Amino acid sequence: MATFSILFLILLEACASPENPKALKVAFFLNENAALDELAITSATNYINNYAATQYALNFVLAPRIYRIKKSEIYNVGNLACDALREGIAAIFGPENGEANEIIQSMALSLEIPQFQTFWNPNFATYAGLGTANKKEIFNFNLYPSPSVLSKAFATLVRENDWRSYTIIYENDDGLVRLQEVLKALSPNNPLVTYRKLGPEPDHRPVFKEIVASGALHIILDCEADHTIDILSQAKEVKLFEEYHTYLLTSLDAYTIDFRQLGEIKTNVSIVRMLDQKVVDTVIGNWELVDSERKLKIPNKLIKVKTAFLFDALNLFITAYSNLDQEQEMDVRPQSCDTNEISSHGYRLSAFIPLLNMTKGMLGEPISGSLNFNSLGQRVSLKLEVLELRKDEFRVTGIWDSGTPHSIYSTITSADREKELEQQLKGRTFRVVSRIYPPYLSRKPGIDSSVMSGNNAFEGYAMDLMKGICELYECNYVFELVPDNNYGKYDPKTKEWNGLIRHLLDRKADLAICDLTTTYERRKAVDFSNPFMTLGISILYTKIVKEPPDLLAFTNPLSLHVWLYMVTAYMVISMIIFLVARLNPNEWENPHPCNPNPEELENIWNIKNCFWLTLGSIMQQGCDILPKGISTRMVAGMWWFFTLIMISCYTANLAAFLTQSRMGPTIQSAEDLAAQTKIKYGCLKDGATASFFRDTNVTTYHKMWVAMETADPSVFETSNDDGVKRVISKKGKYAFLMESSSIEYEVEKHCELVQVGNRLDTKGYGIAMPTNAPYRTSINQAILKMQEMGRLQRLKEKWWKEKNKANTCKKDEDSKTDSANELSLAHVGGVFVVLVVGMSIAMVIAVCEFLWHVRKIAVTQHVALKEVFLKELRFAMDIWCRQKPANPAANLNLSRETLRQGD
Ligand code: GLU
Repeated sequence: MATFSILFLILLEACASPENPKALKVAFFLNENAALDELAITSATNYINNYAATQYALNFVLAPRIYRIKKSEIYNVGNLACDALREGIAAIFGPENGEANEIIQSMALSLEIPQFQTFWNPNFATYAGLGTANKKEIFNFNLYPSPSVLSKAFATLVRENDWRSYTIIYENDDGLVRLQEVLKALSPNNPLVTYRKLGPEPDHRPVFKEIVASGALHIILDCEADHTIDILSQAKEVKLFEEYHTYLLTSLDAYTIDFRQLGEIKTNVSIVRMLDQKVVDTVIGNWELVDSERKLKIPNKLIKVKTAFLFDALNLFITAYSNLDQEQEMDVRPQSCDTNEISSHGYRLSAFIPLLNMTKGMLGEPISGSLNFNSLGQRVSLKLEVLELRKDEFRVTGIWDSGTPHSIYSTITSADREKELEQQLKGRTFRVVSRIYPPYLSRKPGIDSSVMSGNNAFEGYAMDLMKGICELYECNYVFELVPDNNYGKYDPKTKEWNGLIRHLLDRKADLAICDLTTTYERRKAVDFSNPFMTLGISILYTKIVKEPPDLLAFTNPLSLHVWLYMVTAYMVISMIIFLVARLNPNEWENPHPCNPNPEELENIWNIKNCFWLTLGSIMQQGCDILPKGISTRMVAGMWWFFTLIMISCYTANLAAFLTQSRMGPTIQSAEDLAAQTKIKYGCLKDGATASFFRDTNVTTYHKMWVAMETADPSVFETSNDDGVKRVISKKGKYAFLMESSSIEYEVEKHCELVQVGNRLDTKGYGIAMPTNAPYRTSINQAILKMQEMGRLQRLKEKWWKEKNKANTCKKDEDSKTDSANELSLAHVGGVFVVLVVGMSIAMVIAVCEFLWHVRKIAVTQHVALKEVFLKELRFAMDIWCRQKPANPAANLNLSRETLRQGD
């Protein structure tokens, strides 16, 4: 091939006879296997010599000299350059290799030959800087965008995508220079950024597995375009190239990669492209035009940036040269490496190039955009298209321009994006993980408890919610149960999650739906949708059971002791009155007031009367006889005072006792719970409620947490169901802190339970999904729609009330009784009983008195007992007879006569 190029050059030179235009020699230093570059050079040369020459009336023909540098012959590059210089070259293009370039770059600088570089050269500025330290002029130009400009584009992209944590995978240290601005944007110790260098070994899977284990989702991959497929297929094998991953490829050649080789791609892959596809198409059209004889066809989508840069460099050079040549003929002379003689044309050309700011050249528009250089010869203006991979094809989603480096102009509206996402959901089957806890999810009747998946096995709110979402997007779903039946708790020791969260992190499910609370800690591990239900922690407790009042309820206001003391006091006081009255002379009275000098005095305070006085006063009725002496009055007065206080206390307490059953539970709030120790309280062991109490700053709740933690036996339960059972069985001795929505359901189901107090906090249940899930926005929108349409409310009604079969509480009756104020017979029944018993005893005593009286008459009158009894009874029953003879014998005779008349 080298021989071919030299022959080609000799041929061109031969053509450049005095009557023919002179040959303008340029040197290209290419790597091996640079067929496309060669084709670009030949095509451009042909185009210039055949078309542009006539169009622009050029007085030279382009004569390229191509040198291919084998890797093993880098040491020889200086000699090749000296050969080229001896020929008299106007410019040098290349080489592409860093080490070879160092030699050529310094030669170009010292011999003042314009050199055009087309590769990523992080050391370019250093060398150019060395040059400018001695000279003001620059002779090296690099068409590859300057590292600082390119890295700004990546930094903006990362920021606009809102990546807070990501992993940088890079092949060599140059990659980190390319990403310097991305790294600068972060705080130096940001732990959320991880760096992984790919080793020299072809197997990168161990590194990728580590990245998978770290849970990284956003990845910046800096590698050669040719290595990308190999790297990504390894990543795919270890599940680092999944639906939830987002990749940013930094290679400017990434658009040439055929991603179909990776099979089905669900990953979000973004790349940047520098070449304007329209311009490429036109230019390639021209190439095909000039190469129609050689029938060479270049797939225009496979043009790599280095070829484009080479083409653009040639365009830049030839345009600048012909402009200057037309002003004043350029003089290109052979040079020698031995003499270090500087070129005669280089200074003029190099000074002119930065001023050109070329947007259109002799070969048309530059394929890689306008060509502007800074004082070091670095390319500074840059326009990049941001492309996204969609079904193994790229489409432009934004434009980044170095003029406005801090923003990306989006070419896709958010409405378009939403539509696309909806389209993606069509026909998709979601794997939904959940746990059994009615009414959110329960097994259908007759389903064995070993069944762990399948939509036909379960029913509940969660299933209906998913059904509603899928009706909107025409998607499908399959429910399965989480094996450990946990919600999701992080263990700081093992640094592992359990339950539903773990299932999502392991990518075993796309969504988790149940009574799963959105918490800050969980949000760090997975994403949550908007809440589909709002709730707060509250207290589940038993209703105070109204026991039927007992018969002697009226005795309750005073304790048994008090009653006994009162009876004793009653008897003792009666006796004291009796004794005091006997001692007190004022109580000895004249029985016949008409007789001023009676022979005897009488005392009315016999035992019977004493007891009657004390009884009358305790019953608040008074007595027809009252003491007259000071001491007896003193005793009576003190007794009255005692009864006044006792009766007042009794009355007041009686009212309290009779209304007590209508009062609510003994605890009204969390503060009440915290302030006592009799009623134990607990919550679900590893749930959001426990986290709330553990992490709270509120003193009362913290105090409650300490009480819960130190309680023995443990007050924590492994499921809400167990908590509910404990509240029921402990009958007021245990309260369960639970989420209000679940309390509502349990209260509907168990009439003896009640929610006590207000909510302690406000939070929501959300649908959990792996971080970065592309369907998150769609799920959010579906929830909002269902909320606005009232479907969420209807679902709640359905599962909390209609389907809550155990709901047997007769609320109406309860509330009626509750609102009633009157006392029932049960409350005052005992009083009636006392009355009846009292009356019965009175009747018995009356009968005894009567019989005693009959016996007395029979004894005194010497009449048969039976006869007296009958006569006295007949008289007593004759209710019209209101008078009775004082002498019992008269009554007896009267009866005998009456009897005789009757015979
Ligand atoms: N919904 C809670 C959670 O997601 C479980 C119930 C509770 O902690 O009260 O962890």
